[in-house]
Amino acid sequence: MASDTLPTTALPTTGLDAAAVVERLRTTFATRRTTSPAWRRRQLEALRTLLTEQSDALVAALGADLGKGPQEAHRTEVGFTVNEIDHTLAHLDDWLTPRPAQLPDRLLPATAHVVREPLGVVLVIAPWNYPLQLALAPLVGALAAGNCAVVKPSELAPRTSAAIARLLPRYLDDAAVAVVEGAVPETTALLEQRFDHIFYTGNGAVGRIVMAAAARHLTPVTLELGGKSPVVLDPGTDLAAAARRIVTGKFLNAGQTCVAPDYILAIGDTARAVEPHLAEAVRAAYGTDPAAAEEYGRIVNERHFDRLTALLDSGRTVIGGDHDRASRYLAPTVLADVAPDAPVMREEIFGPVLPIVSVPDLDAAIAFINDRDKPLALYAFTDSADTKRRLLAETSSGALAFGLPVAHLTAPDLPFGGVGESGMGRYHGEYSLDTFSHSKAVLDKPLG
Ligand code: NAD
Repeated sequence: MASDTLPTTALPTTGLDAAAVVERLRTTFATRRTTSPAWRRRQLEALRTLLTEQSDALVAALGADLGKGPQEAHRTEVGFTVNEIDHTLAHLDDWLTPRPAQLPDRLLPATAHVVREPLGVVLVIAPWNYPLQLALAPLVGALAAGNCAVVKPSELAPRTSAAIARLLPRYLDDAAVAVVEGAVPETTALLEQRFDHIFYTGNGAVGRIVMAAAARHLTPVTLELGGKSPVVLDPGTDLAAAARRIVTGKFLNAGQTCVAPDYILAIGDTARAVEPHLAEAVRAAYGTDPAAAEEYGRIVNERHFDRLTALLDSGRTVIGGDHDRASRYLAPTVLADVAPDAPVMREEIFGPVLPIVSVPDLDAAIAFINDRDKPLALYAFTDSADTKRRLLAETSSGALAFGLPVAHLTAPDLPFGGVGESGMGRYHGEYSLDTFSHSKAVLDKPLG
C-alpha cells in the first residue's frame, strides 16, 4: 500500500483481548527462558538486525508520519536505537554480574551480593514525536533486563505504529514481546491489566491516568513527560555560536522534541543582541524557504497545527511565522519581546516557535525558572563559572546542559528523565537496566 493510502490513525489490534495478551506473556515468563543472558543477547541482536535490515522502510514510515527527512530520521530514531543496543550489548555481562556487598562485622562470617532480577511482564507506552525511538529504546532496557514486554506505539504516528506491529514479531521472540496498536480504548484496556512495570512517555495529563491505573495493582511506573525547557543566555557569551546550537536543537523534528529549547531567557541586552544571530542561524540551517528544505519536518496533525499558529501573536516576529495548514507546514519562527504571561509561555510549545523573554540579571533568571514547573532540561550559554555553579546549585531540572541543547540524551551513561512535572524515573544505558530490574539483596551465612 502506498504511504498516502495508509490509515491516518493506527488500526486497533483486531478484537483486542488485553487480558489474553498479558496472560500469554506471563506464561512465557514463567518458563524462565527470558531470564537467561543468552536469550536477552539474542533479542537485542535481533532487534539490531531489524533496524538495519528494515531501515529504509522505517525511515519511509517516519517521513510519511512526520515529514522527517531521511538523515534526521536515521540519526534520531533508527541510528539512535542501534547505538543504545550496541552500548547495552557491550556492557550487559558486566551489568548482570552480581555486585558483592560489604557486611557489618556482626553478620560475619557471611557473604552478600546484589542481583538484578527481571520484573516479569512490562508495558511500554510510546508517543508520536519520536515514535520509533521512544517505543524501542525502552524495549532495549526491558529485554536486557530479561522481561517480557507489551509495546503500545502511538496512534498519531500510524505508519510507524504499523511498521512496529508488523516487524517486531518477525524478528523477536513473539511469545515474549507483543505489540498492541490502537488509541485510547486499547491503551485503557491494557492499563486495566496487571503489569510489573509501566513505562510511559507522553504528556502529564495521560501520565496521571497511567499512574492512577498502575496504583490499582501497585505497579511501579516510569513517567517520561515534557514541559518548558528554558535556555539561559548570559552576557558575554558567543551569541552567534549559541544561536546556531539553539536553532539546531529547537527546530529538529519541527520543534516536536521533549527536550527542545522551549524559550530563551535572555539576561540583559542579550535579548536584542541575539535576534539577528538567530535569524541568520535559521537561514543557514534551512535556507530562505524552509518549506523546501528536505530536512525540515511537519506538524503532526491539524489539531497541533491550529494550537501552534494561535501562539504566533505572542510577540514580535524576528523570523518565520509563515504557515500552510494543508501541508501542516509552520516555518521556524522566533518571537521577540514576549511577556512572561503571553499565551506562548503558558504551556509547553512542542513546535517550531521560539520566544525570547528578557530578564535583567541572573537572580531574575533563577527566580523565573524556580517559579515554574521543574523543566525536563535546563540549558545555558555562559562563560562564567559562577553562573554555572549557581544554576547547578539553585535550580532543579531533569538535566542541565551548558553550551549544547538536546544532545545529552544521546550519551548512554547519562540518566535520561524528568523531575516533578517533567516526570519520574530515568533510563538509557545501565539506568534502563535498573528501571526494568529489581535489585535483590542476597545474604549467605553458613550454619554453625
Ligand atoms: P500521544 O498523544 O501519542 O500519547 C502517548 C500515548 O498515550 C499513546 O500511546 C496514546 O495511545 C496514549 N494515550 C493517549 N490518551 C490516553 C488516555 N486518555 N488514556 C490512556 N492512554 C492514552 O503523545 P503526547 O502525550 O501528545 O506526547 C507529547 C508529550 O510527550 C509532550 O509533552 C512531550 O514533551 C512528551 N514527551 C516526553 C518525552 C520524554 O522522554 N520525557 C519524549 C517525548 C515526548
